[in-house]
Amino acid sequence: MTDPNCIFCKIVSKAIPAEIIYEDNDLISFLDINPVNHGHLLVIPKDHHPLLTETPDELLTKVFLRAKSLMKSLKEATDSDFVVLTVVGTDVPHFHVHLIPRFYEDGLAGFWPAKKYESEKQMKSVAEKIRKTI
Ligand SMILES: [Zn+2]
Repeated sequence: MTDPNCIFCKIVSKAIPAEIIYEDNDLISFLDINPVNHGHLLVIPKDHHPLLTETPDELLTKVFLRAKSLMKSLKEATDSDFVVLTVVGTDVPHFHVHLIPRFYEDGLAGFWPAKKYESEKQMKSVAEKIRKTI
């Protein structure tokens, strides 16, 4: 399954070059061209699934197990203090996992934009809405 307009599908088909770190029948991992820190990797399934929630469980399992392994390699290769895994999903609509080498002093501790709840009541209301869907 591919999407002809998807940049990640083009990387999978080698129509667009990428610095590929790992590849097997189901997955590919390559350097993010706009790294948060050097060594920032993306891990993607080769099949096009826009979102994590649309990706088959078996494939998700493979992505996360490979990501776990790559996190260990990445920590060693970059001599970083730790590696974080994030799923953002708003930049390219082809499910992918970011693996980002981090350093205690890299200044990225607050890089997530944050929205405060206006009140404790509002926070409890949001929590209740989520609980009702589980
Ligand atoms: Zn795609």
